[in-house]
Amino acid sequence: MSIIIAIDGHSSCGKSTVAREVAKKLGYTFIDSGAMYRAVTLYCLRNNLAPGWVIDEEKLGLHLHRIHIEFVFNQTLQKNLTFLNGENVDEEIRRPEVANLVSPVSVIGSVRDAMVAQQRAMGKKREIVMDGRDIGTVVFPDAELKIFMTASPQIRAQRRYDELIAKGLQTSIEDVLRNLQERDRIDSTREISPLRQAPDAIVLDNSSMTREEQLEFVLRLANERLQ
Ligand code: C5P
Repeated sequence: MSIIIAIDGHSSCGKSTVAREVAKKLGYTFIDSGAMYRAVTLYCLRNNLAPGWVIDEEKLGLHLHRIHIEFVFNQTLQKNLTFLNGENVDEEIRRPEVANLVSPVSVIGSVRDAMVAQQRAMGKKREIVMDGRDIGTVVFPDAELKIFMTASPQIRAQRRYDELIAKGLQTSIEDVLRNLQERDRIDSTREISPLRQAPDAIVLDNSSMTREEQLEFVLRLANERLQ
């Protein structure tokens, strides 16, 4: 039996880390749907589609067919890297400029339609672990396992801050906290596909859990579904 595992939840609570590890253990494909929205956002920034931080929705709609996003497995790093129109943008899409614009870009219906279509195509053969905001509610409402992840905002901000600093990016913990709270606000209140816990999702609050404990939690549930 092949299943789909949907991991949704708040910003910066480690969804991708857990999703990647679960996928590795099961021999499944991991897809970071947030990376796709970030790639579209980077495209907007590079092509001046958001002058003065206001997105030109009409113009972006005309560009959508030119935005090709792929995930390419890197043997050395042992992970998927995000490619935008053939270029590796995996590092660039984590930059604060992208983080600050990604939620407003993700509100736009035409952007969501394009991303959801690609995500569903990636899950055709099932055997995937996809993380995001609307995976269990909209993209794969029939996923066999749905997890809703969260953690306290302070803990999430500290973790993301440590990650950015380790990558050599200049930022402050206050800015990181502000960004993730603002993204949660926009993501939860938008009209189309808002961030919501699916009724059949299982909550995973990892505020005081280790990576191993989180992995174990999800794998136990996955193995139950796979029996
Ligand atoms: O997961 P990540 O934090 O990288 O996602 C970045 C942003 O992309 C989110 O804050 C949200 O605005 C958007 N997103 C979304 N739907 C998804 C995944 C991400 O709207 N399925």
